[in-house]
Amino acid sequence: MSETIPPPLAPWLQAQLGELLQQRGHALLLSGPSGLGQYPLALALARAWLCEAPTPQGACGHCASCHAIDVRTHPDLCVLMPETLSLELGWPLDERTQERIEKKEVKASRQIRVEAARAAVAFTQLTRSRGDLRVVLIHPAERMNHEAANTLLKTLEEPAGAIRFILSSEAAHQLLPTLRSRCQTHGLRWPTPQESLPWLRERTGAEPDTARVWLAAAGGRPDDALEWARLGLDARLWSALPQAVARGDLSAMADWGATLQLQTLQKLCHDLMASRVGAAPRFFDAAHLPKPPPMRALSQWARELGETARHVEHPFHAPLMLQAWGARARTALGVAPARNSP
Ligand SMILES: [Zn+2]
Repeated sequence: MSETIPPPLAPWLQAQLGELLQQRGHALLLSGPSGLGQYPLALALARAWLCEAPTPQGACGHCASCHAIDVRTHPDLCVLMPETLSLELGWPLDERTQERIEKKEVKASRQIRVEAARAAVAFTQLTRSRGDLRVVLIHPAERMNHEAANTLLKTLEEPAGAIRFILSSEAAHQLLPTLRSRCQTHGLRWPTPQESLPWLRERTGAEPDTARVWLAAAGGRPDDALEWARLGLDARLWSALPQAVARGDLSAMADWGATLQLQTLQKLCHDLMASRVGAAPRFFDAAHLPKPPPMRALSQWARELGETARHVEHPFHAPLMLQAWGARARTALGVAPARNSP
């Protein structure tokens, strides 16, 4: 089994970990927009709670318990995630699900299935196996449908024995209010650029200008900035993108995957709306934006992008789709269609 030692926590997450370790509640909700580090913080917290020699700063990183988490086999930790995410982050699925996915009988689910929630409840009712405490980590909690959430409610309210829950969420407003009200909520802190820039440069070895573009493209969310770093986003490409989109040319985004392509269009639309009302853009440099069309056209485009984003998970004809989105962007931004070349 391969080992996944988590990278050191970012300084602002480390500070929050220290605060959270002093709290006594048995159910904690880490809440905030995506990209602020919910998952690494939740995992660090679980690791510290279960560690055999924890310090006020967190887990020791060396004991048998820490090792068991790093090789994903800790008997007292139950990680509840969508199957797609479990596969991505290296958490084992139950054998039967794994087999069915491998045989292509079922697709890995993007939601947290009710069966998995039932298994988590069963986990909390086991007699203890390793230490005094068992931990259930749910990430992202909003991927539980109502049935899965309801399955967990009672256990969350009256856990049998020493159980602690960490729910991590990027959209806490989507959680059942009954679920939310049973948790102590911790709002993730937004790092300042003075904190996140040096951290990003250290993690990636990037030049300051490049790191700044990644952070801007991520709207200041450090985990999303790392994702841009991983994709190798080029500063020149990002600055040329708004004008290219206005011409209907989305080819620079061809390798990004549909979700990121759409998010980028949404960011551009956001910035054009901001500049339309005289506010500062957030993701792109104001100097790189095309002239914004009337607000009505932008609102209409924003609605369509939002609608498309909800259904974009299975892009069967990615290049064709990108072309269509490009054509739509061009009309939304009021640029006349290019004439066919002779
Ligand atoms: Zn330890």
